Amino acid sequence: MKTISIIGAGISGLTAGIYAQQRGFESVIYERHSVAGGLCSYWNRKGYQLDNCLHWLTGTRKDTELYQLWQNTGVLADDVEVIAPEIFMQVEGNGERLVLWHDVDRLRSDMLALSPADRSEIENFIKLIKIFSKTIFPCQKPPEDMNLWDYLRLVWKMRKIGRPFRKYGKMSLREYANRFKHPLIRKFLTAYFPHFYSVACQLWVFGMFTSGNADLPRGGSKGVIDRMVERYIQLGGKICYNMEAKRIGVKNGLVDEIEFANDKVIRSDYVVTACDLHHVVSNLLPEFSWDNYLTEHYKTETEKYPTHTSFNVFLSVDFYTQALQYTSILEPELLYINGKEIKELVIKDFNYEPSFSPEGATLLQVIVNQYEDDADFWHNLRRYEIEKYRTEKQRVSEEIMESIENRFPEMRGHIKVLDATTPATNIRYTNTYKGAYMGFAMTYFNKKQTHKGTISEIKNLYLAGQALAAPGGTPNAVASGKFAIDRIIRDIKKGK
Ligand SMILES: Cc1cc2nc3c(=O)[nH]c(=O)nc-3n(C[C@H](O)[C@H](O)[C@H](O)COP(=O)(O)OP(=O)(O)OC[C@H]3O[C@@H](n4cnc5c(N)ncnc54)[C@H](O)[C@@H]3O)c2cc1C
Repeated sequence: MKTISIIGAGISGLTAGIYAQQRGFESVIYERHSVAGGLCSYWNRKGYQLDNCLHWLTGTRKDTELYQLWQNTGVLADDVEVIAPEIFMQVEGNGERLVLWHDVDRLRSDMLALSPADRSEIENFIKLIKIFSKTIFPCQKPPEDMNLWDYLRLVWKMRKIGRPFRKYGKMSLREYANRFKHPLIRKFLTAYFPHFYSVACQLWVFGMFTSGNADLPRGGSKGVIDRMVERYIQLGGKICYNMEAKRIGVKNGLVDEIEFANDKVIRSDYVVTACDLHHVVSNLLPEFSWDNYLTEHYKTETEKYPTHTSFNVFLSVDFYTQALQYTSILEPELLYINGKEIKELVIKDFNYEPSFSPEGATLLQVIVNQYEDDADFWHNLRRYEIEKYRTEKQRVSEEIMESIENRFPEMRGHIKVLDATTPATNIRYTNTYKGAYMGFAMTYFNKKQTHKGTISEIKNLYLAGQALAAPGGTPNAVASGKFAIDRIIRDIKKGK
């Protein structure tokens, strides 16, 4: 039986492991942390389950290719409840509120009531969301293995999306928002996604949500990871924790060995790296030359391929409140991080998961978008001035808490900070480039690129992980894990 070593037990690594076992390989996953999940993480504090990842899971609609992938990895099944939140997000301004409802026609009537003067743009916006809801995420084969027939079928299925995708793929959120007269609609369109995302990316997410294809499996990130680990172990897979790969040794164009931080060395027929791409090429394989994708994304054109990350604070409220349902976007009172004024707090309320908080209490997660220079700021502070880092983390958490108390005075004295994470936390636990929690952004100014998933000079090494295709996220992570095994099988068949 051929053996595969997989580095990383995040979503991409667990997927690679599941497909490897199902296709007759003997696989082992090596994970540096003491638990699986990577960025799709959760932990417990004072009776609360802090869920760091899932705000939506694309692929919850049963008629999609992505659903089949989630089903095969154990994440979704007929007996896994999927929660369809009524609201995706709500934005406030000047005493008014605009809600992105699951029911897109309800959004349409709210927008029209709010701003009749924007009627024609509103009608077009709703039409676009409906068109983008038909977007297909192809994941049956790696892109290079799709034949003419596969492409023709895809083009036919996406025939109504191609033109708007090209048009709105090149438009910034700000430019699009400026077409609307009402300030709250402009805010609604620019508040959730980082400013460099394209309108097409936003329309895609809104389309997925309003068509029931981006709902929430019960149990959140823990549920997802527990079910994947269970499926992998049931198939005979093995996960070795606290095993940090330090170097991948290559001889005559083949991986010869993997060396770990604890000095253990292992050998196998194939290796799949399912950890951060930058970490792989700069730390595990430092002597190999970079292809165009790697060079452009990490060296020569970094401003064209931005990533983003976040400061997250978890807050407990000691009573049950529905003041903030699902995800709300609020403007904080004067809040600065890394010398920059923060204009939006994305606040998620977990009331839809009663097991995440003690009975009668509420768990909130507040997310503040952070960018590459902020990641450097937090990382350097943690590395060189740990006390300052802790104080800064505390200051930001408390100022966020105060902003919420000022907006909802009934919460004053009832909120507590449970924990906070910075981009440096992501780097520390998962080795991610610039602490990014998604892959490279789908911006309005670059060309969407996909990495080929292999390194030409190394025959038995395959890459997985969200950074191989923009904008990353769990769909690209799960697809990349499957594609790594598809590529191994293809190359075996070709006698490579
Ligand atoms: C706050 C937040 C919110 C998010 N919200 C969503 C959302 O709503 N929807 C969505 O689709 N996605 C969301 N994501 C993104 C999602 O979590 C990621 O896309 C996905 O988990 C990435 O999986 P991965 O396997 O590619 O990488 P990772 O999760 O980074 O997994 C890599 C694994 O490799 C391990 N590793 C690293 N280096 C080594 C080494 N040298 N040796 C051994 N092991 C190593 C790491 O510890 C990690 O376990 C969110 C993420 C965060 C942090």
